[in-house]
Amino acid sequence: MTQQTKIEWTDFTVNFWEGCQKVGPGCDNCYAEERNGRFSAGANWGPGAPRRLVKGGPAKLRKIERDALSFHREHGRWPRVFLSSLCDVFDNAASPAWRIDLFRAIEAAPNCRFQMLTKRVGNVFQMIPPAWANGGWPSHVGLMITVVNQEEANRDIPKLLDLKARLDIPWVGLSIEPMLAPIDLMVTSSKGHDIQSLRGVAVDPTDPDGADEYYRTAKIDWVICGGESGPKARPMHPDWARSLRDQCWEAETPFLFKQWGEWIPGEFDVPPEIRWQAFPVDPTDSNLLPEMDGNPRWNNGLEFLPTDTHCLFQKVGKKAAGRILDGSEHNGFPEALT
Ligand code: SF4
Repeated sequence: MTQQTKIEWTDFTVNFWEGCQKVGPGCDNCYAEERNGRFSAGANWGPGAPRRLVKGGPAKLRKIERDALSFHREHGRWPRVFLSSLCDVFDNAASPAWRIDLFRAIEAAPNCRFQMLTKRVGNVFQMIPPAWANGGWPSHVGLMITVVNQEEANRDIPKLLDLKARLDIPWVGLSIEPMLAPIDLMVTSSKGHDIQSLRGVAVDPTDPDGADEYYRTAKIDWVICGGESGPKARPMHPDWARSLRDQCWEAETPFLFKQWGEWIPGEFDVPPEIRWQAFPVDPTDSNLLPEMDGNPRWNNGLEFLPTDTHCLFQKVGKKAAGRILDGSEHNGFPEALT
């Protein structure tokens, strides 16, 4: 049995329902919303919109589980299953009964390696089954969150690490896609502690001794990074991806570079209308803002900093842009998924 999806970090996607609402800048160009608009006139999107059951979801998961052994023979590992690409498992507007069905189906598929990805980490504890919250988190389920800039990293990574420690989650990961700004994984929690999230070490800046290690925390086990795809995609500065790669390398954390997305960086001899030129920008000086196809929407959400090196981008499409960073593919996975 071969993989079903082209997403580089998984083998299968499974959705028990469809529908969601935007919760941050990473959602601006949501693929699932665009798809829902195309096939269901957007009926399942937004705060008041009913979510739609995906009838084939449970049967698909049962089949993946049934075929897991032959998948293992073919690939030497258990199938990775991404939940959910068309919704968010921890969406407040999704039916609690549907969520219970999903958790039961997960428990009935122990040979799948689940990658549960959410942008609502604050909802996880109150929405999981009581057994999961009381020491019974399944060993074949990992939890991932999406963060796209430093603000989200500071807000959500400490919550993810708390959950990992509290619920004994076997592995946790970050999906930094679309990457919209540089991110330092030494995050500052709401308590004012600096947490080196890749090492699982907190440093208290008010500690008079300046001790390196203030207390131990859980740590991040996996980092995925990628630029945005789709017609309205925003470019990802290569320095941002390099920095993540280097932070992971130093901490010996698996790093997967998923894609450049629509825009590829480099020096190009191309007509000006398809070239996007990013300079080190002083955001307070509008004269220095980059020109982007003459269309100001491209400036949204970008935080090119004075420290970013000058870079030209060409819009070539996701496939042509590929996934080579400084001459190599980066295909790290946590041990639990290998
Ligand atoms: S949380 Fe995910 S599915 Fe929901 S709107 Fe944002 S990107 Fe789309």
